[in-house]
Amino acid sequence: MLIVMESQTGEDKILKVINFIKQKGFDAHISKGESHTVIGCVGRKVIDKRDIELLEGVKEVIRITSPYKLVSRVFKPDDTVITVNDVKFGGGNLGMIAGPCSVETLEQVDETARKLCDAGVKILRGGAFKPRTSPYAFQGLGEEGLKILRQVADKYNMAVTSEIMEVSHIPMFLDYVDILQVGARNMQNFNLLKKLGEINKPVMLKRGLSATIEEWLMSAEYIMSGGNREVILCERGIRTFEHMTRNTLDISAIPVVQKISHLPVIVDPSHATGLRDKVAPMSKAAIAAGADGLIIEVHNNPDCALCDGAQSLHPEEFAELYKDLQVLAKVVKKSF
Ligand code: PEP
Ligand code: MN
Repeated sequence: MLIVMESQTGEDKILKVINFIKQKGFDAHISKGESHTVIGCVGRKVIDKRDIELLEGVKEVIRITSPYKLVSRVFKPDDTVITVNDVKFGGGNLGMIAGPCSVETLEQVDETARKLCDAGVKILRGGAFKPRTSPYAFQGLGEEGLKILRQVADKYNMAVTSEIMEVSHIPMFLDYVDILQVGARNMQNFNLLKKLGEINKPVMLKRGLSATIEEWLMSAEYIMSGGNREVILCERGIRTFEHMTRNTLDISAIPVVQKISHLPVIVDPSHATGLRDKVAPMSKAAIAAGADGLIIEVHNNPDCALCDGAQSLHPEEFAELYKDLQVLAKVVKKSF
């Protein structure tokens, strides 16, 4: 249920409503918009909506029948803008994240990051705990990888994102990482999502390999219902019958999600296509379709990459693409 307060309602009246619903056994989630404050009333108890309508300052009480509430635009009409290292995602701002699939060595991350930094990138990606299909494939350097990522990022004044797979790793990740990435394979690791709801760092939630948009948004709802409002959604391609590309980039998911939700949606053209030469066209398509940013795999020497070399751009290719994207951004009245 959403409680829309009259415009310019005083804090005292808002507090009274919050106390009232809390007393009835509900959680209150507040969203302060330009003109109205909206209180999300979340819980499984039964409440007579008229009891709330009668409270002072209440304009309207809306029962929400859709399964997602906090991620919904009904709860928060304005775009959520997430800022990391001066980079903004959402609300007309485009964010760029780039870096290798995996952290391999200090030299590899350093050289890649230096070139990305020269190209204007401020958020570095790099996996340290890798969810590989084969148990015999490179599994990542673990905490050592996070250390390398942090050390290099600090050197170039960058922020970092890396994938977390386990609840027990959260304290470690909080020490090194600025955005915690939930990979496609863990989109429905509900325990992990719940715990990430309790932290106060942004979470990038990738769409599951075969997840519907509704399932994806419900996973974001898990994080938000724990209190963490900073969720960046990432469309990374879904599994279809088509095998010419690694996955099929669901471009239409961008406007579909943006209509339902206030959360920023970025696109990962690297995992979506699995092929280096498809990354530039899909990046451009994503921006043209309204994406709030991109996450792109870049490796200083893709031919020798321990993971996903075929879809990783050479730093020079990335720099060219980023220039083109900045021109394109103007066409959609946005900027990186
Ligand atoms: C990744 O970003 O390194 C990754 C494994 O992506 P996904 O979870 O989308 O497969
Ligand atoms: Mn990868």
